[in-house]
Amino acid sequence: MNTQDVNAADSSSAKPNIAFIGLGNMGAPMAENLLKAGYALSVYDLSKDATQRLQQAGAKVADSPKGAASNAQVVISMLPAGKHVHSVYLGDMGLGESKSKGLLSELPQGTLVIDSSTIAAADARIVAEAASQAGIDFLDAPVSGGTGGAIAGSLTFIVGGSADAFAKAEPILAVMGKNIFHAGEHGAGQVAKICNNLLLGILMAGTAEAINLGVKNGLDPKVLSDIMLQSSGRNWTLEVYNPYPKVMDNVPSSNGYQGGFMTKLMQKDLNLALQTAQNTNVNTPMGAKATELYEAHTVENGDRDFSSIMALHDSSVLS
Ligand code: NAD
Repeated sequence: MNTQDVNAADSSSAKPNIAFIGLGNMGAPMAENLLKAGYALSVYDLSKDATQRLQQAGAKVADSPKGAASNAQVVISMLPAGKHVHSVYLGDMGLGESKSKGLLSELPQGTLVIDSSTIAAADARIVAEAASQAGIDFLDAPVSGGTGGAIAGSLTFIVGGSADAFAKAEPILAVMGKNIFHAGEHGAGQVAKICNNLLLGILMAGTAEAINLGVKNGLDPKVLSDIMLQSSGRNWTLEVYNPYPKVMDNVPSSNGYQGGFMTKLMQKDLNLALQTAQNTNVNTPMGAKATELYEAHTVENGDRDFSSIMALHDSSVLS
């Protein structure tokens, strides 16, 4: 372990160099916003297409997480699931995917690590504990707001970790988000995030069901959506993410359900929520039903945006 103290992300000093790992639907626009705000960025992703986009935007591309972090005081990751996060940070100490050393063993003391992936709170706490032993500040900082929020820099960050690390991270998170919450200690950000996504999964499934009922009874989906938007059924999916094609511009449902938040990722989050509920003897019957629906839908549509749950009622929306 390198024991050099790098005095990470002191907001009173010059902008820290940032390593960004995971440049998918969310990570790419988040990283682009950091570049626009003048941060020097070094990036890594397994996908060459993903890194190319960031290279064109002005980032330095590395060929490993270690390479990306070599001159960085802050590391941000935006990866699909817990196994990827463990693989990057813990390597062989993690869930067995990687044969390499984890990034935590390579970083100088004082580095600030911000993981914005949605993963189990228990997995986040394992990384936080390993980081703490290496003298590294770790925050779980999952986000809400979708790809639209990532592009607009208006995400909600839900952060777990120490108050000191939170204070160091806040100016950086403020570049990518509008609302930044300190939920509590390590893992608290992930717990709050899966509570939110449990509700989101239910709301999207319910909204799709209601629109389908109206359409099958002769209503125009846009007219019905406008009515519900001004009535007590109003919710985030009706406001900014309507699941019915062509009701709204610039949402996945009007683009063949491409991009956005993949059904398999929603499925992962619902399972995290149900697992947490089971571990703590909490009853989540609506969540269990929603999980069943997304599970059935994931079989053939896992890579489509989760609003394609609409197709459970009307498969023609996919064409
Ligand atoms: P994505 O699949 O589009 O992107 C993930 C990226 O990580 C891919 O580019 C992939 O190549 C890369 N990757 C995977 N393993 C890697 C590794 N070991 N090293 C480097 N790169 C690796 O997923 P996304 O939609 O960007 O979601 C990322 C996270 O954010 C997930 O945990 C998801 O649940 C969460 N999230 C997504 C949304 C959304 O609307 N898409 C909203 C909120 C939260």
